[in-house]
Amino acid sequence: MTFKTLDDLQDAAGKCALVRVDLNVPMDNGKVTDTTRISRVLPTIRELSDKGAKVILLAHFGRPKGERVKTMSLAPVTPALAALLGKEVLFCEDCIGQTASSAIANLGNGDVILMENTRYHPGEEKNDAEFAKALAANGDIYVNDAFSAAHRAHGSTEGIARLLPAYAGRTMQAELEALSSALGNPERPVLAVVGGAKVSSKIDLLENLVSKVDMLVIGGGMANTFLAAKGIDVGKSLCEHELAATAKTIMAAAEKSGCEIVLPVDAVVAREFKAGADNETVTLDAIPQDAMMLDVGASSIETVKQKIAAAKTLVWNGPLGAFEIEPFDKATVAAAKFAAERAKAGQLNAVAGGGDTVAALNHAGAADDFSYVSTAGGAFLEWLEGKELPGVKALEV
Ligand code: AMP
Repeated sequence: MTFKTLDDLQDAAGKCALVRVDLNVPMDNGKVTDTTRISRVLPTIRELSDKGAKVILLAHFGRPKGERVKTMSLAPVTPALAALLGKEVLFCEDCIGQTASSAIANLGNGDVILMENTRYHPGEEKNDAEFAKALAANGDIYVNDAFSAAHRAHGSTEGIARLLPAYAGRTMQAELEALSSALGNPERPVLAVVGGAKVSSKIDLLENLVSKVDMLVIGGGMANTFLAAKGIDVGKSLCEHELAATAKTIMAAAEKSGCEIVLPVDAVVAREFKAGADNETVTLDAIPQDAMMLDVGASSIETVKQKIAAAKTLVWNGPLGAFEIEPFDKATVAAAKFAAERAKAGQLNAVAGGGDTVAALNHAGAADDFSYVSTAGGAFLEWLEGKELPGVKALEV
């Protein structure tokens, strides 16, 4: 797809730029506890401010469902944003109407203002035309830098983009470029590693991936469902037996499209789901009735590494085992480290994201060396499912 970026914006000085950002950050007692999302939107804010635009930030926080819920105000995010930006950030108690237009009228070139939670208005989530119009009334241009909110067709992510000249911010641009390099027009062979708890939450994703990638490693709890569908007794492992037919359909689709499915060949099993639980590595025909598989075994790790070594492109979502409890993080850590090394050496385009994946890669100390790690949860997964994201579609030229 083609979209305009900030490179296409020539005359920003004096313009009111409505910039959709993701500031839905974790908070504890009114203090921001993780600034990752804030850091991601700084380049766009800085660039627009340096070019003399009046930067008007639009964002949501939590799910106030169209009401002014005090605990979901964006006001406490303002100081954290200002500190990281190294510049004053003003705050406005409403994102539309008289309060908003008066605050914006007072802005000087280069000023930055954060508008209150867009979801305080019911029109935001309904993508109501009047609400989008009220937002657009305060700007000359629209910049979307919130890929993580792009799977929702909301007033501030979709409706507004149809009313003003629309641009992708730097983070949105980087995300779209990374995703397109991984699945849009990738260097082959392409390997997908999919893990995590359940098949049921990733059926669409698996179906889409088998039609696009050359190799698919399935790990984590979801591998058990595939193994059980192949007639393996998985004991007390997490397993969705009722999805055996679905697993078989996915395997048949993979065979048809020439995608090799790689399942574990051995398992680390334990009787308790807790850190340090007694465990042993067994072959698949020897999983004890009263034990559960919490990680893939050493032989499986070797196979995964071989597949990573054979790939030019890697898309990763979900851990290979119960990585939060040691020692069942071993396979995830080993595979992530190996992929990171290959990526760092320029041998692999490694893109990862979605849910627990970022935490798993951070745990492995591998995130920094991956080519791209998406902090978007739902949007990244919907993109892996092959769905069109409304907020991205609206930027298309
Ligand atoms: P997801 O959000 O679907 O990516 O799932 C992530 C969760 O899957 C993590 O909390 C892991 O602990 C869990 N998980 C991974 N492998 C297993 C396994 N073999 N048995 C139980 N849970 C697992």
